[in-house]
Amino acid sequence: MSKVKAEAKPLTAPLPRGAKTGATVTVEPLLGGEVQAPRAYFENRGGRFRVPRMLGIGTPRSQWVWAPVPAFLITHPSAGAVLVDTAFHGSVAAKPAANLGRIVARASRARVEPGRDVPAQLRERGIDAQKLETVVLTHLHFDHTSGISEYPNATFVVAKREWEAATTGDRPQLQGYMTAHFDYLFDYRTVDFDAAGISSYASFGRTFDLFGDGSIRLAFTPGHTPGHCSVIARLSDRDLVIAGDAIYTHAQLDGADPPPAPADMHNWKRSLRDLQQFARTYPHAVIVPGHDADHWPTLKPLYE
Ligand SMILES: [Zn+2]
Repeated sequence: MSKVKAEAKPLTAPLPRGAKTGATVTVEPLLGGEVQAPRAYFENRGGRFRVPRMLGIGTPRSQWVWAPVPAFLITHPSAGAVLVDTAFHGSVAAKPAANLGRIVARASRARVEPGRDVPAQLRERGIDAQKLETVVLTHLHFDHTSGISEYPNATFVVAKREWEAATTGDRPQLQGYMTAHFDYLFDYRTVDFDAAGISSYASFGRTFDLFGDGSIRLAFTPGHTPGHCSVIARLSDRDLVIAGDAIYTHAQLDGADPPPAPADMHNWKRSLRDLQQFARTYPHAVIVPGHDADHWPTLKPLYE
């Protein structure tokens, strides 16, 4: 039983406006805000102090980090601008509680640099958020959905399993979902990774080819949330993987401690293995983690 007015339709075939097979794209990582948390929120060695450490209890403030909340602008040769995740709404700069709610705003310490929200960064590139046509959501946690209302004319693509988890689950807010962020009569399309049209790509068992030309693929990487996806963008000479929150930090690819509380630790580890295998097979691939304060500054402004 859905708890939202918003409805989603299945996406059973690639979106129109694909290019010829072999098309490549460019990717620009955009800093759409930051969130402050103890390091143990992102990497946690477990044990009896797992929860207090994750909440920052007993952790000196010097060990808290401001982690990036990213969005990504992919430019496709025929479909134009494709946004991956929305990061924080611009209103979070002045009034975090209006968009995030009082509890989340207080617990998560979110910030956006005034005038540097994602729509402003798109405008600098000549792109009108109101007219943007395609948004891919890695998952529906609040730090990825906060800005959805800025793109009223977009087709939003998300895994079916994720849409179900966020719209029918018990007490979505306790699972990190804020239904108010996406409860609009927008064009939501869901990808069923158990259906026909899903194929493997490299180390990923289940992927969906967004435009049917191999340029942008959604890879099913559940665990962080029930229907989490990563996004694989084909650059001219290598792939760039927007891992989303399948890994919070780049070090998790190399065996750093897992996050303290994924929705399903078994699936989290399986998805991690897919990413690790990909990184081993394609050492020149760029793999961007979800919230890594140390790795973010190493990224280039434009990958092509
Ligand atoms: Zn996140």
